[in-house]
Amino acid sequence: MLNAPSQVFPAPASQQRVAAGGRSKVPLKPGRSLMDWIRLTKSGKDLSGLKGKLIEVTEEELAKHNKKDDCWICIRGLVYNVSPYVEYHPGGEDELMKAAGADGTDLFEEVHRWVNYESMLKECFVGRMALKPIGVTKETCSIVAEEKKLLNGILPKTKELDATSKELIPSDDWFQTDSSITVTIYTKQKDIISELVIVDYQDGKLRGEIILKDYSYILNVELSYAIQEDVAVHTTGKVGKVEIILKKKDNITWKNLGQPLEGHHSFIRCTDRGFHYRKCKLISKTDVTHNTKLFCLMLPQSTHLQVPVGQHIYLKQIIAGTEIVKPYTPVSSSLIPELPNLTAHIFLMIKIYPNGLFTPELDHLQIGEYIYVSNPEGSFKKSQVQTVDDLFLLAAGTGFTPMVKLLSYALNNVCSLRIVKLMFFNKTEGDILWRNKLEELAFQDKRFDVEFILSEPEKEWTGKQGKISSSLLSEFVKRSKDDSKLLICICGPAPFTEQGIRFLQDLGYSSEDIHSFTA
Ligand code: FAD
Ligand code: NAD
Repeated sequence: MLNAPSQVFPAPASQQRVAAGGRSKVPLKPGRSLMDWIRLTKSGKDLSGLKGKLIEVTEEELAKHNKKDDCWICIRGLVYNVSPYVEYHPGGEDELMKAAGADGTDLFEEVHRWVNYESMLKECFVGRMALKPIGVTKETCSIVAEEKKLLNGILPKTKELDATSKELIPSDDWFQTDSSITVTIYTKQKDIISELVIVDYQDGKLRGEIILKDYSYILNVELSYAIQEDVAVHTTGKVGKVEIILKKKDNITWKNLGQPLEGHHSFIRCTDRGFHYRKCKLISKTDVTHNTKLFCLMLPQSTHLQVPVGQHIYLKQIIAGTEIVKPYTPVSSSLIPELPNLTAHIFLMIKIYPNGLFTPELDHLQIGEYIYVSNPEGSFKKSQVQTVDDLFLLAAGTGFTPMVKLLSYALNNVCSLRIVKLMFFNKTEGDILWRNKLEELAFQDKRFDVEFILSEPEKEWTGKQGKISSSLLSEFVKRSKDDSKLLICICGPAPFTEQGIRFLQDLGYSSEDIHSFTA
């Protein structure tokens, strides 16, 4: 839980600094980077303080360990001795100490629920929380069992659903022909489209996820027999039906679909579900600028996954034996695609930081090698842009990435749109991503305009200079008509985004007018 996307808790504003991850950090002492932490975890030192013994931790015991040099924290039912880690935490000691001797799950979920703390803190693992003793009846027994699973992060939180949400739980069924198996899910919701369905078939296991507003319906089965690799998905939006079509390998009559696995047939809040990864092959890697590359990854044939506009995925790599996860926002292959969209491919535009932890490793990935890619996430909804007249985009550096698909979507699908303007902040001319493509798009589509602002320009630069400011924004965000409906999207380093939002609010724009892209 360490550097930007790998820190456990946020940093207090007074000590914040921000690095490429976009997450606020406090300065760390030399020798206290994430890589240094990983080295320490491999050193064989007794970091849990229990010499490898695991214990059941009661609330009383947990509460005793609430000092910097004796600090235990519970995350999702698992207790860690984080004292050795305090100095390595980019969010700072104070933030970590907020959860000292207590349950830090909520604080953790708020910041980076996707950080793989199990891997990064595994040497600090003390044990699981003990269950509270309660009077034993048949009913309480099942509650205890349920809570135990919940604590271990296994059980879907279906019991938290209100009555209306419970009525919305989808149902599923399956049937077969000689050559195929079709799993049908009745979602009880309309407007189901293909990108709301994610399906994987790996090692004999079929996992399906359907995103239904803020909830996920999960199907997770160990299939009775092996199937062929290609998996197809059909959606019938009007009736809310999803069909997953599998091809049999042999002409066998199946007696049942298979054995249910963890979380099968569950309906949970999207924010409560775990992350699911599949291995994707690196197909190509091309230079975009001196330090940024376009990576093309191919999904397995047995995966159905489309990343919606404005959403990101997580990449996972094992670095020095520890799983490290970072978010990236897929782009399209080009701003004006010459080829039809390749749905089995994911394009990522990634800046390589020579002294970063994740991107140098990624840069070493060879064509044909594999990397883990998660399901998509993100709060942006296409409906935010579907009825706007004016769209204003503010991007800094790689904060341009969510704007790529958004631009294509808006210009090709939003009929009401009159103007789309992008203000793109970079350090130098050489840092501008897809400058030619942006200028070509502005030439081709009269509704679109782009302006480049440099913060560290060379002498020859005749365009605008500086960083995001109130005066730049008041000049840039001008409605096409007095009553036009607008949306302003912003993405870049955290201070850029924070300042931008503040300036826009001071200029009178409401929170509905602004969308900021964050993890
Ligand atoms: P890091 O190890 O995080 O380091 C980056 C820089 O910060 C280095 O220069 C390092 O020296 C410095 N640094 C790190 N920690 C400290 C510290 N404690 N004190 C001082 N300096 C420090 N990036 C893209 O390129 N493309 C994308 O599409 C993209 N999408 C994103 C989507 C989201 C939702 C978010 C939140 C981020 C996205 N990012 C994207 C950023 C990405 O997730 C990584 O943060 C980025 O790739 C840097 O990772 P790294 O491990 O290589 O660098
Ligand atoms: P960079 O360091 O090259 O800076 C680009 C521009 O951002 C600068 O020219 C400047 O105008 C502005 N800027 C930088 N620091 C600033 C500050 N402290 N105050 C005001 N303006 C500032 O940018 P980069 O290395 O390409 O970093 C891009 C950032 O965008 C990363 O932090 C990344 O995590 C974030 N990002 C977020 C998402 C998302 O969806 N949330 C997606 C992609 C990238």
